[in-house]
Amino acid sequence: MVSRKATALIAGALVLASAPVFAQEALLVTNVGPEGEAIYIEDGVVVDLDGRDMSPFEGKTVDAGGAYATPGLIDMHVHVWGEAELSAYLAHGVTTVRNMSGMPFHLAMAEQIKAGTLEGPNLFTSGPILNSPGPNAQINHVMVSSAEEARAAVRAQHEAGYTRVKLYSNLTGEAFAAALEEARALGMAVTGHPVEGAREEGIPLERDFLVPISQTLAAHFETIEHTESLAFHGLRSQLDREAGEALVDEIVASGSVVTPTLVAHRNLVRVAQSDGAYALRPGVELLNPVIQTTEAENIAAWASRDPADERARAEFYSWMTGVMHSAGVPLVAGSDAGIFTNIPGDALLDELELLVEAGLTPSEAIAAATTTAAQVLDEDGRLGCMEAGCVADIVFTACDPRAYISCLRHPVALLRAGRWYDEAGLATLREQAAQHDVERIVEDLVSGMDAQGTPLDPAMLGM
Ligand SMILES: [Zn+2]
Repeated sequence: MVSRKATALIAGALVLASAPVFAQEALLVTNVGPEGEAIYIEDGVVVDLDGRDMSPFEGKTVDAGGAYATPGLIDMHVHVWGEAELSAYLAHGVTTVRNMSGMPFHLAMAEQIKAGTLEGPNLFTSGPILNSPGPNAQINHVMVSSAEEARAAVRAQHEAGYTRVKLYSNLTGEAFAAALEEARALGMAVTGHPVEGAREEGIPLERDFLVPISQTLAAHFETIEHTESLAFHGLRSQLDREAGEALVDEIVASGSVVTPTLVAHRNLVRVAQSDGAYALRPGVELLNPVIQTTEAENIAAWASRDPADERARAEFYSWMTGVMHSAGVPLVAGSDAGIFTNIPGDALLDELELLVEAGLTPSEAIAAATTTAAQVLDEDGRLGCMEAGCVADIVFTACDPRAYISCLRHPVALLRAGRWYDEAGLATLREQAAQHDVERIVEDLVSGMDAQGTPLDPAMLGM
């Protein structure tokens, strides 16, 4: 009798020329790196080879061809909208993502991925974004202004199954304090933008924000998002290096972790510099087509913008990120992939290059997308690592990314929880990544927005 596992393997082999090896099988990856090391995996987890006699080996063996191994990358700031994007992350070596504007379908997705019934990166998610009315409000934000509304919203997210709350720039001081208190009481992590309070007349150029940056720094966020937002709030949008250094001192003293997301601003500049051509580059077919309809206006606006000012801003954010790093602010890599023209997976590789440009060594940039990120997620020793006990999430490259970060651009193989993808397997992922199930995406968005009490007009999506 053929076992169920074997039947599945045969069925898989009929569909794909290079069926991934199933995680339950023991797997020995030989010929790893210039030293020709071996990685032994059982149940999707790296096992110590110490003292084991591997011959004769009963499981499956694959040859890494001397490729360099790096822990699978963690993107700490993404927006996932559909299953195709999950393949895009894997195809680029990103094996863990933190989604930053959650809807109920993300919770279901995360469960399926965990159970192994859906192929994708480990998925962490915040709840829906909490904000108050103001210039930064967006249609998918849950609006709360009073303490009572903020508390109720955090409780509702906790009941829905979310474990982290995302706060946004225009949140009022009252709602901010209440959301923090409620999240703490419920054991939820808090992350997001520096909270500025209502943007009244004359703020920030003539007078300071209603909620000072010190309140966000004192709030012990899981991470504070965007160097750009820190500079906007902490420096009242002035590109003043002396004030920037003083702000960095405050950030260091607070012990805060920062997700710079340099690529998010840089892509605005690239679109402006190219009169929009950048938003049509190869790879944009991996962007969710439903969300792209909502971004079209924004992309067109940036395409017609004069890039001169923004170039100076980009330089400042890069400088400030380098200063934060050398001052000892822990940085994690995040890309804001899934919105604007930030391609899932590819945008994290951009971000790593920008972190190196900002002054991190390639190894330090990799740490921002592996060990440091795993620590922040409370997953150290399990994710972002390759030692015994770590989930076998490993990306293989032809050259050494610790010497040259762009080596990560061309993975030659991938392990995801012990599943082996060779070059053909990666190419299949890349093909899947461009196949968007539009009907399903619209359905998930509409029901998600409904569940959070901000019903969506399908006309917004061009439907
Ligand atoms: Zn974002």
